[in-house]
Amino acid sequence: MTPAQAAAKDRARPAGKRERLAISKPVKGAAGKTGAWRTFRPVINPEQCNQCGLCQLYCPEAAINENLEIDTEFCKGCGICASECPKKAIRMEKEER
Ligand code: SF4
Ligand code: SF4
Repeated sequence: MTPAQAAAKDRARPAGKRERLAISKPVKGAAGKTGAWRTFRPVINPEQCNQCGLCQLYCPEAAINENLEIDTEFCKGCGICASECPKKAIRMEKEER
């Protein structure tokens, strides 16, 4: 599917059901799963979130899916999602291990 076809398909979906284009998928690297690095965990407040998808777009580990669920096996706790969120809907909480 071309990007133009994907965009047309995306526009045809009901609001809130957009299929976002994945830039990459999380994979286990040479250093293992990046979730093991995490000392802070992102928590999304659904009441503040407008589902813009920027957190998913900017996450360097592709750990946020289209339903805005965070894959803790790969989220390394960098906080980029929280920094980029225009609604300040993501807070970073100290990880309990
Ligand atoms: S803190 Fe956010 S941006 Fe960083 S890896 Fe986790 S989900 Fe992705
Ligand atoms: S960037 Fe913020 S407002 Fe946008 S989808 Fe992510 S949590 Fe929601």
